[in-house]
Amino acid sequence: MAEILVESHNLVKIYKANDLEVVALQGLDLRVPRGEMLALVGPSGAGKSTLLNILGGLDEPSAGRCEVAGVDLTRLTRRERLLYRRRIVGHVWQQTSRNLLSDMTLLDNVITPMMLAGYPAGRRRNRAKELLGLVGLGDRLDHKPVRLSGGEQQRGALAVALANEPPLLLADEPTGELDSVTAGEVLKLLRRLNAELGLTTIVVTHDLHVAEAMDRSVAIRDGRTSTEVRHAETTEETVIIDGVGRLQIPRSALDTIPFDGRARVHVAADHVELWPVGVLAGPRQDAARER
Ligand code: ADP
Repeated sequence: MAEILVESHNLVKIYKANDLEVVALQGLDLRVPRGEMLALVGPSGAGKSTLLNILGGLDEPSAGRCEVAGVDLTRLTRRERLLYRRRIVGHVWQQTSRNLLSDMTLLDNVITPMMLAGYPAGRRRNRAKELLGLVGLGDRLDHKPVRLSGGEQQRGALAVALANEPPLLLADEPTGELDSVTAGEVLKLLRRLNAELGLTTIVVTHDLHVAEAMDRSVAIRDGRTSTEVRHAETTEETVIIDGVGRLQIPRSALDTIPFDGRARVHVAADHVELWPVGVLAGPRQDAARER
C-alpha cells in the first residue's frame, strides 16, 4: 500500500472572533497517499481553506490529529512551524500577485526561498534554472512578474513553490484567474510535475474541470469530509465513512426522505439500509407489499 503522506483524524478548528466561536472544522478525517493528486471541493464556508491553511502550517489545529510527512502539526514550536513551511509544503495561491515578489526577476523569486531555507549556495542558481526550465520558463529568467502573462506567472509560482523540494504542494484555486486554455496548460503541468517529481498535490477548487483533472475529489461539507469521487476508477460519487462509522447523508436524500434526525438501520446480507423511523424496513416491507 502507498505510504500515507497526509493524515488527519478528528481534526477540529475553532476560530474565535470577539465573543463568537466558529467551528470551521468539526472532526475531519482525511488520508492522502504520497503521489496522489487530490481536489478539495464543496460549498463556500465548508472549511476547505481552513484545512489548506492547517496543512500549510499557516494555522494551528484546535484539536484532533494532523500529520504531514511524519510531522505532527498539533505540537510544533514557532521555529519548527517555520521550518515545516519552508521544507515540507509549497503553496500556490489564486492571486498571481501573492505568489511572486514583483520587484524581483523570476530567477531571484525562485532563489529566495532556497536562501531562506539554507539550501547550499553553490546549487541555488542551477536548481532555480532547472526548475524554471521544467515549468517552461527557461527563456524568462530575467523577467519581472509584470512582464509575464497570467499563465506564466502561475507556472513561475509553481517553480517558487517547489524550490525547496517539498513533498506536498498546496494550491488554492490555482487557475481561478486564468482563461480555460491557459488553465488547461497549468493543469497539464501539475500532472507532469506529479509524474516526474512524485509530487503530492492538494488543490482547492470550485471548478469541475480542475477537480476532474485530479485523481480524486473529496467534498467537504460543514467542516467534515463528506463524499468522494475517484476519477480514475469511476464517476460515481461515494459517501466517506470515517474511522468510527460516521457518514454524511447526501443533502438530496435528506431533502427527499423525512428522517427527522433519526434513522433505523437495517443490515442486509451485502448492504445496509437506513429507514425513517415509523416506516417498515426492508424485507418486512416487501413482505407487506406482497400481502
Ligand atoms: P471555504 O474555504 O470552504 O470557503 P473557510 O475555510 O474559508 O471555507 O471557512 C470555514 C468557516 O470558518 C466559515 O464559517 C468562515 O467564516 C470561518 N472562518 C474562516 N477563517 C476564519 C477566521 N480567520 N476567523 C473567523 N472565522 C473564520
